[in-house]
Amino acid sequence: MREKHAEIKEEADNNKMEQKASPLPETKMTAQQTLVLIKPDGLIKSLTGNILTELSNTDLIIVGAKIVQVTRELAEEHYQHLREEKFFDELIRYIMGEFHTKRVLALVYQGENAIDKVRRVVGATDPEKADPTTIRGKYGRVTRAGVFENVVHASENLKEAEREIKLWFRPEELVYTIYPTESKKTAKLEFFWKK
Ligand code: UDP
Ligand code: MG
Repeated sequence: MREKHAEIKEEADNNKMEQKASPLPETKMTAQQTLVLIKPDGLIKSLTGNILTELSNTDLIIVGAKIVQVTRELAEEHYQHLREEKFFDELIRYIMGEFHTKRVLALVYQGENAIDKVRRVVGATDPEKADPTTIRGKYGRVTRAGVFENVVHASENLKEAEREIKLWFRPEELVYTIYPTESKKTAKLEFFWKK
């Protein structure tokens, strides 16, 4: 183990030149970014295409996307503001995929007024109250346990968007960043495709 560690460190030292900070492309600050999650019920119902189509009716662009297996830690951090709610445990199990599929599609949308534009297309939290032309109004349901299975998540405001994007994505996973980044030289173990 020690030997492996030394080897990795040496390689990191050798790559010093390549590791010189090359700043990630930043985007003008008037643009907003917002986090969208297609939740496990959205994936198991094969709604991904429909949801992306609805969102493409905005003039926003996707700047990051990945499939995530949500850990309890990530789920609890994401929904920290609901910790005291009686539906919290069910909600954590829902976003972790215990009732549907253990996958979430995480996306970052960018553009003018992105947060409100996405929330408008997504609709109200309670699918029964959501306008029937919105994503949640069309595809969501309320379970007997009282959880709103509303197929998507969308950041609520600027502060939450920043917190959530930084929680779900590393800077280099986004093609543009609006939040400042810094580089650090590390000696972490990385995987590559075998030649
Ligand atoms: N939720 C629920 N019951 C409630 C309120 C919220 O099941 O009474 C779930 C629902 O899945 C919702 C998530 O918890 O999307 C986060 O709640 P929030 O109030 O942040 O609503 P959102 O921002 O998702 O519209
Ligand atoms: Mg919310």
